[in-house]
Amino acid sequence: MSDLVRPLVGVLALHGGVSEHETALAEVGADTRRVRAPEDLDGLDGLVIPGGETTTIHRLTRGGELLPALRSAVDAGLPTLGTCAGLIALAAEVRGGSEPLVGGLDVAVRRNAWGRQPASFEAPVHAPALGGEDVPGVFIRAPRVEEVGPAAEVLATCGDEVVAVRQGVVWGTAFHPELTPDRRLHAAFLEVVRAGHAEGDERRTGGACRVGA
Ligand code: GLN
Repeated sequence: MSDLVRPLVGVLALHGGVSEHETALAEVGADTRRVRAPEDLDGLDGLVIPGGETTTIHRLTRGGELLPALRSAVDAGLPTLGTCAGLIALAAEVRGGSEPLVGGLDVAVRRNAWGRQPASFEAPVHAPALGGEDVPGVFIRAPRVEEVGPAAEVLATCGDEVVAVRQGVVWGTAFHPELTPDRRLHAAFLEVVRAGHAEGDERRTGGACRVGA
């Protein structure tokens, strides 16, 4: 555990948008460490699982010790932010050609499921908890949050769609906050990291979200 004035946040560095998260975290006041092996999790105050490709993350972790270590860390209350494929990794249920990887978020997500939307697009994200104006949302072959279970709560929406959720200290976004200069999401996550493992509450909100046709 580090000095929480400047918390130490691990970034899973198997592939994907690692350096962009490192930059964002540094800008909001965290030190970072790349996580490639179970021992890299020792002493972390928080963890980011970047986007990338779920099948690649599966391939790189299958049968190894990192995956059980990640599961234990998240279970033990390590504040964790997953973006895009990172959200898929944290989801309790994955639809569309994959299995749950780490878990920790009571949501069902479907990979690559934005229907008639182009595979990648930008759209404003409404995130009242972050205050102020909408956050710019960059979506790249994003997962769709199809159900939000009672243990999770909605953090952000884009139109009728849920695009960010949290369950206590575990946060997931379908979009890529690391790819825009807006640092409000990383800053808010870092506040959770600073508050530490104390915030293990599983806040409840009612019902599944309505997903457009
Ligand atoms: N489409 C990817 C998947 O299903 C996620 C894309 C991303 O992380 N930008 O794993």
